[in-house]
Amino acid sequence: MRIDLHCHSTASDGTDGPAELVRAAAAAGLDVVALTDHDTTRGYAEAIAALPRGLTLVTGAELSCRVDGVSMHMLAYLFDPEEPALLAERELVRDDRVPRAQGMIAKLNELGVPVSWEQVARIAGDGSVGRPHVATALVELGVVPSVGDAFTQDWLADGGRAFVEKHETDPFEAIRLVKGAGGVTVFAHPAAAKRGRTVPESTIAELAAAGLDGIEVDHMDHDEDTRVRLRGLAADLGLLVTGSSDYHGSRKTVALGEYTTHPDVYGEITRRATGAFPVPGTGGA
Ligand code: AMP
Ligand code: ZN
Ligand code: FE
Ligand code: FE
Repeated sequence: MRIDLHCHSTASDGTDGPAELVRAAAAAGLDVVALTDHDTTRGYAEAIAALPRGLTLVTGAELSCRVDGVSMHMLAYLFDPEEPALLAERELVRDDRVPRAQGMIAKLNELGVPVSWEQVARIAGDGSVGRPHVATALVELGVVPSVGDAFTQDWLADGGRAFVEKHETDPFEAIRLVKGAGGVTVFAHPAAAKRGRTVPESTIAELAAAGLDGIEVDHMDHDEDTRVRLRGLAADLGLLVTGSSDYHGSRKTVALGEYTTHPDVYGEITRRATGAFPVPGTGGA
């Protein structure tokens, strides 16, 4: 069984539509794929309608969180997408992304970059708008050679010249909300230092005590030493260990299924979840 529990579609900042994503997942030989767009569930219906036979879809989202001034991402799986409290918080975060992107555009204009909201909105389409869309605009304008090159202190990295914060959920609140909606939580790429400051182990211990289910260990942003350390931490704290591609289509170099999750861990996640069931593919539209 090959299981990839973290993928983005055009519902947020991936470049494959949800239908394209599940077809690509099947073509990549995956048995299970999770759709985890940033702060939104709007890709589910299209992914389910297109789901190929033999591929199972895990519904999820990647929630934008912040603790002690440090931004972090919380993967949430198999929660009830209609549950009102979690839905309201997702909408708050997602809606705040628009004025925030406009704020980053204003800062870029002050820096002499002729990017416009119309350009970024076109790139984002109906996906929840984020820095990768602004970064794509910078690539189009020839300001930087690649999306990754926009994530520096000169441009869009945390604290960078054109960076603006967005509303982000306290992760303890996120755990409470996801559990309230029957879901399971996994701290995404907890030691991805190239993205900025990371959460200390003491906080991960507190999150574990508050009901965090697991941490994502096998991820392209973790080197081998980091993975060893995180595996030890997970064992100490009784946390599940996942691995996943964090696929973003052509906005990142990683391939679907490049990192995977052990079937036993996947089984445990599905046993703990009560908000939704994995969806078996029936052939697709
Ligand atoms: P946002 O949620 O709008 O703040 O954008 C965060 C997203 O930007 C992350 O989910 C990544 O997909 C992407 N990102 C963050 N840091 C980097 C980086 N150093 N290089 C490339 N992409 C990044
Ligand atoms: Zn993303
Ligand atoms: Fe993330
Ligand atoms: Fe992600």
